[in-house]
Parts: sequence; structure tokens; C-alpha cells
Amino acid sequence: MSEKEMAGEISDRLVARFRRYVAVTSQSDAAVADVPSTAGQWDMARLLEGELRALGLADIALDEHAVLTARLPATVEGAPRLGFCAHMDTVDVGLSPEIHPQLLRYEGKDLCLNAERDIWLRAAEHPELARHVGEEIIFGDGTSVLGADNKAAVTTVMELLAALVREKPAHGEIFVAFVPDEEIGLRGSKLLKLERFPVDFAYTIDSCEVGEFVYETFNAAQVTLSIAGVTAHPMSAKGVLVNPVLVAADFIGRFDPSDTPECTEGREGYCWVNHIAAGPAEAVVKMSLRDFAAAGLARRKALVAAAVKATQEAFPRARLALKIEDAYGNIADALGNDRRCVDLLERAFAALGIAPDVIAMRGGTDGSALSARGVPTPNYFTGGLNFHSRFECLPVPSFVQAYRLSERLVALAAGRTA
Ligand SMILES: [Zn+2]
Repeated sequence: MSEKEMAGEISDRLVARFRRYVAVTSQSDAAVADVPSTAGQWDMARLLEGELRALGLADIALDEHAVLTARLPATVEGAPRLGFCAHMDTVDVGLSPEIHPQLLRYEGKDLCLNAERDIWLRAAEHPELARHVGEEIIFGDGTSVLGADNKAAVTTVMELLAALVREKPAHGEIFVAFVPDEEIGLRGSKLLKLERFPVDFAYTIDSCEVGEFVYETFNAAQVTLSIAGVTAHPMSAKGVLVNPVLVAADFIGRFDPSDTPECTEGREGYCWVNHIAAGPAEAVVKMSLRDFAAAGLARRKALVAAAVKATQEAFPRARLALKIEDAYGNIADALGNDRRCVDLLERAFAALGIAPDVIAMRGGTDGSALSARGVPTPNYFTGGLNFHSRFECLPVPSFVQAYRLSERLVALAAGRTA
């Protein structure tokens, strides 16, 4: 079989599998505290569990949070234990939970995604697609995201396992974890039982364009300040009333207005006030602290503590309760001196002739949660574009590249060069 025929076969397999997975609606729901937050994620987990059983993987476990793990035993000794982690939820950005994929050829012109609803992808508004003219691209129908985030990764990992089982090349031990609720705070990866995922290092496949490679992310912490005031009728409030609305405003006013998401970029961190609920008796203020440097995050926590102290001094009769919780950590900090996961990925990029586009990501991935727990987990591209949008799409040649890269990682880890 020629290289081209083989590539064709792989793209057909990837597309068919991807269609099967996006047919399962599995949006996560931030308003639900349980993990998983939605029943659809159970459907997705059970579908994958059945497929892993059919492939004959070992140690398949589906836990009470719909975290699904499995192990593919090694065929050679001495290779590092690799993990792949992908999330099963799709994001809720107010679009339809149901996904209707369609395979269209992009000719560089405006493209009708939905004739009935008159939804068009305007070429002029999507310069990112200029590199994909002439390609077969999977789109949704304009009423939903496509769900390549992250079902392209689920597909890549499952197709890779299927190929390894079928063809039995030399490979080390491989662990997979499919987790729920990534889009609503990396909840699934935080609950992943690490004894079921005993890897030397792992990868997520959860960024966009071919070449994207992320091993630096924010360190993140969440701040909740609860304020109890003193209520009084305004006719006799003098010297009695302590107004939580004003206490909250005082606290918020103590931060640098240029140290915010809207005023920072690149490697700058920020303090982001993103919730305030205040009434006559009490108030709650929430903030997100982000910084690439662990010391920077610690400095931001100290700023918050100092602001709380100053506000408390200004309103001595208010009761302030501060909670700061770490949310996830910079992947780079978890690497330490062990750069094997990054080196291996760089070698895989080089082997396929893909130029790495190393991104310091102003956010977190499941890998940030895993890295904070001691499992170094870089992230690389799915090949998809426009995540979290009705114009999310997945150029098939890029999808194949993500698959080839994953295949190459496994090969290189086992000392194979092809
Ligand atoms: Zn994702």
C-alpha cells in the first residue's frame, strides 16, 4: 500500500470515529456541582469503556465520577510509561448541545454552513482558514461548536490504541484517562486517581493549529472573600449600619486597575475580579489570580491578603472571611530537571517535519491540573480551529498530523525511529 493510500485510510478511520463520538451530546454544565455535571458524559464514558473492552485493554476502570482509565501492556521493556489524557465534555457557550458534523471542502470563499438558518462562514472574517484552502474540513452546522475540543483528541487516542493492538509494534506501557468536566474548571483531571494512571509523564491533545505545543501555563488560584455587614434601618443607621456593598467596593478598589486580563498579555499575570454579589447583610467577591511564575502567584496572594487587612481596618465592624484555593499549576514547574516529555515531543515534531509553535498559554489545561499533582503533562495540537465557537472546525489533514504525531511519540518512546 502506498503512503497516500495509507494516509487516506487513516483519515477515513479518524473521521468515522470522530462522527461517532460527537453524536453523543456531552456538554458540561458549570451550574451543577456534581462530577460529571451531565448525564451525557456518562454516555460518552460508557461508549469508550465498551470500545476499550473490545480492544482488550487491561485495568479498565470507570469510577464514580465517570473518569475512565485503562492500560495497554508494553510489548518491549525499558520504555517510559506514557499517558494520554483527553476530556469528554464539550463546552457550553450558549450554543446547541447537539452537534451535526459535515465534511466540506474549503475553497477559500464564503461557505454556507446552514442554508435553513442562513449561517455562513465569511472567508474575510476567518483568515486562520487561509492555510487550509483546498482541504476537506469538518464543520458543525453553525448551531453548535464542533466538539473537536476535545473529541478530536479522544478520537486520536482511541485510534492510536486500536492501531497498536492491531499491528503490535514495539511500544512501552501506555495509560489512557478520559475525564469529564474539563471546560468547567478541570474538575475531572483533578479527581483522576493517580494510582490508575501511574505514568512517567503524559500528554493532552487539546490545542489548535498544527505545531502548537504548550508546556507553560498559568499558575492559578481562586479567591473568595465573604463579607458580613451589620444591618440597620436607614432612619436610625448612623454609627450602626455597616454596608457590605461598600466594604466589597473598598476591597475591589485596592487593586491596580491595569493588572487585569484586559490590560495584560504575553507572560504577564493578572488579578481578575469576576463575581460580586452584595446585599444589605452580606457580600461575596470572587477573583481569579493568574501568573506564570509561582513566586508571582504567591505575590498576588499576598496582595489579596493585604487588601483584606486594609479593608478590615477601614470597616472594623464588618466580618471578612478570605479563602484562597490553588486551581492548577504551570506545567513547566512540574518538569524540574526531567525534560523527557518535552524532548520526546520535540523529537516527534522534528521526525514529521512540523515546526513547533511553543505557546505560553494564558490559561490552564488538564495537563496543568495533572502537572500540579506531579505528573508532567504537556499539551499539543488537535489540528482543530476556533474552539468554543460555532465556526469551530477540523481540517482533516491537520487531524491526521495530530494522529501521526501521537503515533510517533509512542514509537520514539520505545526507541523506534519509524
Ligand atoms: Zn479542550
